[in-house]
Amino acid sequence: MEQRSIALDGPAGAGKSTLAKKAAQHFGLIYVDTGALYRCVGLYVLRQNVDSQDIFEIVKLLPDIKIEMKHDDEGIQRMILNGEDVTDDIRIPEASKYASDVSAIPEVRAFLLSMQREMANKYDAILDGRDIGTVVLPDAGLKIFITADPEKRAYRRYLELKDKDDTITFEEVRDAMVSRDKNDSERATAPLKAADDAVLLDTSELDLQESFFALCDLITGRFGL
Ligand code: C5P
Repeated sequence: MEQRSIALDGPAGAGKSTLAKKAAQHFGLIYVDTGALYRCVGLYVLRQNVDSQDIFEIVKLLPDIKIEMKHDDEGIQRMILNGEDVTDDIRIPEASKYASDVSAIPEVRAFLLSMQREMANKYDAILDGRDIGTVVLPDAGLKIFITADPEKRAYRRYLELKDKDDTITFEEVRDAMVSRDKNDSERATAPLKAADDAVLLDTSELDLQESFFALCDLITGRFGL
């Protein structure tokens, strides 16, 4: 049977993870948040007090990093870094910045590639990331590039983060996001971009429910689910 793998790429705050999680639940697929892998590497580097631009030192750390991805009973992806559950720790803003910096290093990308492909080989899965349709799964059954207006993306991310930290400002969130998008789009290895055969889904004018329906239509249209 054809493997039902779905590549969902796009910039930060476009709604990828929320939508992918909902769609995975709806269609009985496994949701794989590949950004969490880069965040684990970023967090490890941060905790070692190594500068996020120090490529040489970061590459030296890679053999010490063991990442496991588990799905709990509710289908929530838990990230285990060298035996410790870091699912919440990898969401701090500093880990986002480190994740983006380390993700530009080709050795880091190669280090995380096989884990992502294994998940797609093993399960019918939705993978969300930046290079799933272009590099990780060039033969994915369905490729979607989700995007939205930068101000709207920043506002959505701001609302999410404000729940956990009420000192955070919209401007801080927007500036960090713009800089991360720039990093991700301009890097030489596997930059953020839509695959030639990806379907574009712009959620600027759609609320969550409308975006979800649009995504479901694409999945149903492709796989007949
Ligand atoms: O998706 P999320 O925002 O959690 O990803 C964190 C960072 O990991 C991104 O800013 C990006 O630099 C990197 N990433 C990547 N390739 C992926 C997924 C994430 O480079 N497939």
